[in-house]
Amino acid sequence: MASPTKITRYGASEEQIESLMHEWNEPKYRAEQIWACLYRPDPLSEATTLPAALKNRLVDALPLALDEMTVVHGQDGMTSKWLWAAGADRAEIETVLMRTTSRATVCVSSQAGCAMGCTFCATGQAGFNRQLSSAEIVEQVVRAAHGSPQRVSNVVYMGMGEPLANYETVWDSVERIHSDLKISARRITLSTVGIVPAMLQLAKEALPITLAVSLHAANDSLRQTMIPLNNRYPIADILDAAAEVAGAHGRRVTFEYACIEGVNDSPDSGRELAHLLGRWPGAGGAHVNLIPLNPTTEFFGRRSSRRHLEGFAELLRAGGVSATIRRPRGVDIDAACGQLRSRIVSFNPK
Ligand code: SAH
Ligand code: SF4
Repeated sequence: MASPTKITRYGASEEQIESLMHEWNEPKYRAEQIWACLYRPDPLSEATTLPAALKNRLVDALPLALDEMTVVHGQDGMTSKWLWAAGADRAEIETVLMRTTSRATVCVSSQAGCAMGCTFCATGQAGFNRQLSSAEIVEQVVRAAHGSPQRVSNVVYMGMGEPLANYETVWDSVERIHSDLKISARRITLSTVGIVPAMLQLAKEALPITLAVSLHAANDSLRQTMIPLNNRYPIADILDAAAEVAGAHGRRVTFEYACIEGVNDSPDSGRELAHLLGRWPGAGGAHVNLIPLNPTTEFFGRRSSRRHLEGFAELLRAGGVSATIRRPRGVDIDAACGQLRSRIVSFNPK
């Protein structure tokens, strides 16, 4: 008899559940019923439409891929962050849920660790462990949804890892989040450090998801000191590829810019960025999201003050570039990229 134990609960396809029901001599309609239960806001164990014995058997046969190590909630009760041990090797990854009254956004990891080595990023500082599977990515959204009092409306690939360095798998997870979790393409945002060939591939995909590009500097010599990959894919090529995506998907691209005091936040830097993006030809124009730097252990840069950020945003607007400042949400629970993991690892050295 084929063993179903290798299939995880959110890695199973509808066909695999059908054949499992066939194997268990269950009526055919059960597969459809189970599928509906899996993608409802409550966990499978709480489904009321399935006979208890079948439910228990399923819970055993289709194990979860993510083991919850910790979950912490922000003081405002609107942010939660999970640290999971993923798969048999128990790779550590994080997921964040951020809610407002109008939306609930899940921030997923696409890799355990990251090989890109951006100097200011906790994930980059810890290095690469392994690729995540599509099931592990989809399950992060499902498990966060189980912990959310609101329906999950948005998914952002801004957790650990570089999504475009795990392209096929990440794209499979995007399609599943769209089809199985019924989240519209424009509410799925993929953030990249700028892997140009993969961005061009993204422009060819049918699902018009939203793109965010981590820019952080307006010239190559500064960006190189922060993002080693800039040596391979300089700013001009990244902006061209981003314009391709914007045109193909018909969505405005967001450029992320983490403001670091005395590094990239001077008025000159602001004017240089406004000049660069003011003439960017992408559909809908450029939008800049200014991110207050989150402190990490191995990077000594400091975040720019709120007043400074506001002045920087004004310079961008004066240059015709729309700009917003991201609220530093979840700082009380270390919700920035890779930070919960590094804290837990430093408290519990292996
Ligand atoms: N690898 C992708 C997505 C994950 S990082 C990327 O780099 O875009 C998600 C976002 O967090 C990126 O914009 C990244 O530059 C930013 N980020 C990383 N470390 C940060 C820190 N210490 N403070 C503020 N933003 C940070
Ligand atoms: Fe990787 Fe993104 Fe962090 Fe850079 S910022 S190290 S690409 S996760």
